[in-house]
Amino acid sequence: MRTDVVVVGLGAFGSAALWRLAARGVRVVGIERQAIGHAFGSSHGTTRLFRVACMEHPGLTELARKSLALWTELGERTGETYVRQTGSLNVGSLTSAPVTGARKAAAIGASTGDLSHQELRTRFPQYNLEPGDVAVWDPGAGICYAEPTVRAQVAEARRLGATVYPHTMVTEIDVRADEVIVRTPTVDIAAEQVVVCAGAWLGKLVPGLPATPRRTPLFWFQPADPESEAFRLANFPSFIWELADGRGLWGHGSDDGFGVKVGLDGGSHRTGFDPDELDRYIHPVADIAELAAAVGRAFPGLDPAPVKAIPCMVTDTPDGQFLVGRYDERLVIAGGDNGHGFKHCAGIGELLAQVTTKETPFADASFVDPHRF
Ligand SMILES: Cc1cc2nc3c(=O)[nH]c(=O)nc-3n(C[C@H](O)[C@H](O)[C@H](O)COP(=O)(O)OP(=O)(O)OC[C@H]3O[C@@H](n4cnc5c(N)ncnc54)[C@H](O)[C@@H]3O)c2cc1C
Repeated sequence: MRTDVVVVGLGAFGSAALWRLAARGVRVVGIERQAIGHAFGSSHGTTRLFRVACMEHPGLTELARKSLALWTELGERTGETYVRQTGSLNVGSLTSAPVTGARKAAAIGASTGDLSHQELRTRFPQYNLEPGDVAVWDPGAGICYAEPTVRAQVAEARRLGATVYPHTMVTEIDVRADEVIVRTPTVDIAAEQVVVCAGAWLGKLVPGLPATPRRTPLFWFQPADPESEAFRLANFPSFIWELADGRGLWGHGSDDGFGVKVGLDGGSHRTGFDPDELDRYIHPVADIAELAAAVGRAFPGLDPAPVKAIPCMVTDTPDGQFLVGRYDERLVIAGGDNGHGFKHCAGIGELLAQVTTKETPFADASFVDPHRF
């Protein structure tokens, strides 16, 4: 089989790349080793936090805005909602990463508002704040939907002409001078270029990249008083909170179809394993004890025992930024999500399509250039 572009891995980044390439009329084939929208990579569960004033890098604001624009356009066609802009809190001391990072994003145009300690306490009594805690409000933020969006992006790509092979594992990417051959047990595809978006498996398919899988389970909680409305999404919007000891808590409230979600960064998550060997057991002590203690202290109105947990993975890079762009003449890559990639995936898909077709990128992507190391 021969085509213009093959996209390997149809999770968040790959499904978006497939969609944006198909939208340009490029002959594109997508290959995914699992079902479309599955629970074995980085993109499962119902929701992810959507932020615009991103603390991780000011350049991310442009990517989030592009995702929002593309998902809004897609939603107008499908009648579905992919982002709910409920606003979001960046909480911590004046020198914490969520507060300083959101202010840096504001300095280059993200719209934000400051909340003093007292304002924060009054408006969000759910928080057991430290005395120096303040917040930056990100009004364009909220939540986005993970598995439904991956499925929608693939469905849209198919509608626009893409060919999709689910349940098909790429075993080799053979880059030659005049073409690239993508091999699977059932079909070999020759293409001009390949876009590799293999998530935690990126380093296995493209050896030499500084991409390290990290096990990061997802957890859901419920209010100590099951009748309480305090932790509904409308009253408890998404947040990132740097605790006094430097660890990060993040999450959002519940709504119909999903529970209160809270996660802890800087906990005892394991790294450097083979993603095919991910430990899928949730360990009462290693996984839950530290998070439950942090939740119990931070939000006294929540029952600190999680009601649900699912193992998941992220992929770390040395500087916490993605690996997105051209890797060589025939190879374009996207990965290294560092646990904050979903909200940017449609924007990254657009960027990947632009890089592949040699258009001018809509944003400065030098901070995610895979050659920067
Ligand atoms: C607990 C947790 C919380 C998070 N919270 C947020 C959040 O609030 N906001 C946010 O923006 N982001 C968040 N993220 C990060 C976000 O989910 C990831 O950035 C995003 O899902 C990464 O997508 P990906 O395409 O790189 O990986 P994936 O979605 O895993 O896609 C990679 C795909 O490649 C496939 N694949 C691998 N090898 C092969 C092969 N050989 N052949 C064919 N297919 C292959 C895999 O099966 C997989 O489907 C969170 C992540 C986790 C784990």
